[in-house]
Amino acid sequence: MLARLALAAAPLALAAPAARGQAPRDTLVYTVAVQPRDQHLTVEARLTISALGTVVLTAPPSAGPAGTSVTGLSATDELGAPLPVRHSGATFAIDRAAPPAVRFRYQLDFERRVAEGSTGSALDTSRFYAVTRSVFVAPDPTAFRKMSRAYPVVRVAIVPPPGWEVVAGWPVEDGTFRPSDGGDLVGTTVAAAPDFRVYRDTVAGGTRLLAIRGHRYFSDSALAAVIDAGLRKGAATFGPVPVARVTYTSDLGRKGRTSGSLQGLASIGLIWEPSELLELARSHDTFHETLHLWFGGAMETERWWTEGVTDYLAARLLAEWKGQPEDLAALCWESYRNYLAIDHNTRMTMAEENRASVGGDNTELLVYRKGMLAGLLLDAAIRRETHGRSTLDAAAARLLTVAAARRSRTVREAEIRDAVVDAGGASAARTWSRVVDAANLLSEAEIREALRDVTGRTFDPPREQKRRKALRDAGDR
Ligand SMILES: [Zn+2]
Repeated sequence: MLARLALAAAPLALAAPAARGQAPRDTLVYTVAVQPRDQHLTVEARLTISALGTVVLTAPPSAGPAGTSVTGLSATDELGAPLPVRHSGATFAIDRAAPPAVRFRYQLDFERRVAEGSTGSALDTSRFYAVTRSVFVAPDPTAFRKMSRAYPVVRVAIVPPPGWEVVAGWPVEDGTFRPSDGGDLVGTTVAAAPDFRVYRDTVAGGTRLLAIRGHRYFSDSALAAVIDAGLRKGAATFGPVPVARVTYTSDLGRKGRTSGSLQGLASIGLIWEPSELLELARSHDTFHETLHLWFGGAMETERWWTEGVTDYLAARLLAEWKGQPEDLAALCWESYRNYLAIDHNTRMTMAEENRASVGGDNTELLVYRKGMLAGLLLDAAIRRETHGRSTLDAAAARLLTVAAARRSRTVREAEIRDAVVDAGGASAARTWSRVVDAANLLSEAEIREALRDVTGRTFDPPREQKRRKALRDAGDR
C-alpha cells in the first residue's frame, strides 16, 4: 500500500523542474519494500524515457560476492497492460508500443543472512545490508555515459519494516533518496535495521554520516574518532575530502571475516568480526578505507598505488595522528614480512602481478605488500633528496590534480613516475627503477633506512610477528 502511494506521488515532484522550453528529463523512480521475514526485497519501478523503442535494463551481477538474485520481473505500461519482457543473460528487454512510461517490478532474493564481507549482501529479521549494484535492475549507466546521454533523474524510496532505520550513501530529501545519476544509483551501500546508532557530524568541511550496529570491545565514539582523524589528516595532506558527504556503515559480520571497502565515490562499508578490537590493525584498515576517497575514488590508477601506497599513507598518517612513529614501523615491518612470504615476489613486478590477475587476500599480493613498501621507499627517497623539504605527499597531491581534470579520473603509471621524480630527483628515479620497474628482492637494510628517513628514528624488525589477519579489502576498488 505504502509502495503504491509513493509511486503515485513521485512523478508530481519530478515534473516541477521541467520549466518552459526545457525538455523534460527522463525519470526513474523506485520503491523498495524490505521484507525480512521472507528474506527478500520487493522492488517496484516507474521509468519514463522519451526515446522510442525497446527499453533495456541490466540486472545485478549474479556471480561474485553479491549474493542476490532477481525473480519474477514483469512489466506493464502506464495503464497496467502487460508488456513482454525478454530475459537474456544479464539483461531484460521490454518491448512497448509507445513511450514514455514503463512500470516494472521484481523480487530480490538474498542468499545470506550475514554478509560475507563489505561487498556482499545479507537480509534477515535483524538487518539488511547490500551494495546497490546487487539490488537494482536499471538502465545501464555505462551505456548512457558512452552515448553522452543524461541518465534519468533517479529517486529511491525505501520502505523498511516499522521501526527500522535506513542508511544509504545517497543524499536524502523529504524521505526520498536522490542518487545523482546511474553510477550513483548502483555505486553505494544501503542498510537498514531497527538498532542502527546513527551519528551525523561535520568533519573536515563535509558531512560524515556513521551508522553502527552491534557491540564490540570499543565504543562508538572511538570508531568515530578514528574515522574523523582519517578524514582530517587526508584533507590536510591531499586537499579537501573529494565528496561533500560520506557515509560509513559498520556492522557485525561472521567470525574470521573482516572487510572494508569504498563503494562508488562516497560510501564506506565496514563489516567486522563480532570480537574485533580497535587496535592498530583495525585503525589502520579504517584509515586505509577513508583514504580510498582520494585514491580509488577521486583518482584511479595502478592497483599498487591505490592499494599499496594508500596502505603506506594510511599507516603514516595514523602514526602521525597518534604521535607514535613506532606504529608506522610496526606496520611496515609486518608488510615486509608478508612480502618475503609471497612466492612470486621476485618473479613479477607489481603491475605484472595485477595484469596476471593473481588471486589472494591483502597479505598475499604484491600490489598490497610491496606496494606499501614502495610508498615507504619512494617517500624516503624524496625526503632524502630534498633534505626533508618535499615528501611523497607532494607527488600524490599533484596526481590528484591531474585526475580531477579528467572524466575517467585515471592517471597512468608513467605519470606517477613523473610526479615522483619531479619531487625527488635522481634518488627517487633510482628507487622507482628498483622497486616499481624491477622485481629484485627488497632488503631489510633498505626498509630500516627508509623508516629512518621518514621518522628520524631507527626501528629494527620485531623478532617475532604474528601473521596479520587478512583484511578482505574490496578487491574491486
Ligand atoms: Zn583498499
